[in-house]
Amino acid sequence: MEMSPIEQLFTLFNETAISLQEELGYSYLEALAETGENLFHGSILQEELSELAVKRLSKQYSEIHLERFSPEEIRRAFQLVILKGMKENVQPNHQMTPDTVGMLVAYLAGKFIKEPSFRLLDPAVGTGNLLMTVLNHISKEISAVGVDIDDILLKLAYVNANLQGHPVQFFNQDSLEPLFIDPVDGVVADLPVGYYPNDIRAAEYQLKAESGHSYSHHLFIEQSVLHTKPGGYLFFVIPNSLFESDQAGKLHEFIKDHVFVQGLLQLPISMFKNTQAAKSIFIVQKKGEGITAPKQALLANLPNLSKRQEMDKILSEIETWFKENKD
Ligand code: SAM
Repeated sequence: MEMSPIEQLFTLFNETAISLQEELGYSYLEALAETGENLFHGSILQEELSELAVKRLSKQYSEIHLERFSPEEIRRAFQLVILKGMKENVQPNHQMTPDTVGMLVAYLAGKFIKEPSFRLLDPAVGTGNLLMTVLNHISKEISAVGVDIDDILLKLAYVNANLQGHPVQFFNQDSLEPLFIDPVDGVVADLPVGYYPNDIRAAEYQLKAESGHSYSHHLFIEQSVLHTKPGGYLFFVIPNSLFESDQAGKLHEFIKDHVFVQGLLQLPISMFKNTQAAKSIFIVQKKGEGITAPKQALLANLPNLSKRQEMDKILSEIETWFKENKD
């Protein structure tokens, strides 16, 4: 039986990554980034390889014609190989954003952001899966910026963007340190949840903890708002417990002062390991001249996405909300 385009790409990424892993002692994810680079540049960039390995890899790359695949096919295949690599060992906080979440964020960003061309920031870009899903599903001219502290994940994101032909500017740094970027029209971020270890830097933030470590997800929200233009929209994947923590009071105040809450969509619990791990999509708009609050925020508990009828009902409620609040 003939392989589907995604299977063909998966097989190429997987087999060539394993070869590089074995030859050079890389981790699977490092080897994946390297093989992606090779494929993008159309040459083998690792100088330490044996002649035999170079021959074998060249043959494998020559059998794939990247231009025959759509960006979505490339993203999905790359997503599957990354998932395989992440099974080995990845902290829960560094996990890739799942497809369903990415699709919802893409749908929402496409509905909220009206400009024909805009600048988008993902300050926790990771492997780039969320950002690429958004870029692949919004047919507008988007110039994107991605930042991540993890060099291997950022390299995967860079390869992901290159292979799919998206011009994204990447920065490998702590996003809570000063960011040297122009203000953006929108932010998408699957926030890393936990304590931020750098108390000295945290002290610069309004949302710092009064004592002990601050929550990095709170600081990420503040940093993202700071870098957004007035009227810009921000889409955060947040833990459901965001507004129930010991530091939630300050966060409420910050939100009231700087943004208008547009919506809170709770993702189905079945998507997560347990209730504590469950997440929502939180949508806000930065305040500015002429920007007003929606009549009411869009609040919904999303059903299991495979439940077609329930999902259609929610989507039609969302459409109605847009007509009443945004058109
Ligand atoms: N959306 C990403 C994707 O599709 O792969 C996944 C985001 S993951 C849930 C959170 C990311 O935040 C991780 O990639 C982690 O490396 C990054 N991160 C954590 N703390 C950070 C910091 N202080 N500055 C920049 N990135 C950070």
